[in-house]
Amino acid sequence: MNKVIIIGSGCAGLTAAIYAGRAELQPLVLDGYEPGGQLGLTTMVENFPGFPEGILGPELIERTRKQAQRFGAEFRSGAVTSVNLSNRPFTVVAGKETHECEALIVAAGASARMLGIESERHLLGHGVSTCATCDGYFFREKEIAVVGGGDSAMEEAIFLTKFAKRVTLIHRRKEFRASKIMLERARANPKIQWMTPYVIDHISDVEKKSVEIVTLRNQETNETTTNAVEGVFVAIGHDPNTKIFKGQLDMDENGYLITHHGTQTNVPGVFAAGDVQDHHYRQAVSAAGSGCMAAIDAEKFLAGHTA
Ligand code: NAP
Repeated sequence: MNKVIIIGSGCAGLTAAIYAGRAELQPLVLDGYEPGGQLGLTTMVENFPGFPEGILGPELIERTRKQAQRFGAEFRSGAVTSVNLSNRPFTVVAGKETHECEALIVAAGASARMLGIESERHLLGHGVSTCATCDGYFFREKEIAVVGGGDSAMEEAIFLTKFAKRVTLIHRRKEFRASKIMLERARANPKIQWMTPYVIDHISDVEKKSVEIVTLRNQETNETTTNAVEGVFVAIGHDPNTKIFKGQLDMDENGYLITHHGTQTNVPGVFAAGDVQDHHYRQAVSAAGSGCMAAIDAEKFLAGHTA
């Protein structure tokens, strides 16, 4: 029996583990499919307070993990496959292991949707990015591409024009899903050029580990063309990792967990932190902040309840 289980080991989960550990709750952290969360997939992080020279995402995660271990957090690798939150103690199944806990912190994050082409996978963190706020700064005076036709793509494209020489927005249809206001704002920006209806077939150069050329295919004519860019921002949405909570925890129409009074969910004793409940800010520091809040909320809850 664990006092607290934390699902997820990104910024939110690890910060919750530090706080729960220091509150002597001996948290058990279940690592998940993407240990370290989205920071584990990025390179230099320059906007996390306390690191004036920046810090590599994986290093920040490793240091935070060690910090949590110092205060007694225990880590298990493997993804959670099911939970039973109908009564306390809660049951959490990860692979062949079943764990029980008096309080649960869900910090399972959200995963950026990817295009699904092989070259994209190899170049992630080497010119391919899913976060303009995180990586835009590295593309000063460069030609870059943004993929997507929703509000995220518009927002990222507009943001990136602050740095880039030119942003090419690539979308697979001629119609856009983005709201009128965001689309108009992007259309009014002279640094954005548009390519529709195109999809990216390939990004090179995988061998050199840098983005140099994208091969695009016109969806109507099937003709291909190439475009020289030094960065590709994939902005085709995020999916919160909440499938296993369906029917048990309240979520919005996009699957993000709904929290109230800080980090409480609809189930007393279950708290949510980080991108799994935040589609708006999605920053490492805001995820860490909500992880801290979830641990404090869990501690208060446990002080008033016994299983
Ligand atoms: P979204 O609205 O689901 O749009 C995703 C876009 O990516 C769509 O245009 C989609 O194309 C395209 N796409 C999806 N899979 C693709 C693939 N495999 N290859 C190429 N293109 C692909 O996602 P979002 O833009 O992240 O927005 C999510 C929610 O957050 C929305 O409700 C949005 O309004 C909100 N949001 C609001 C703001 C804001 O107001 N400032 C900013 C960001 C997000 P199709 O259109 O062809 O399906």
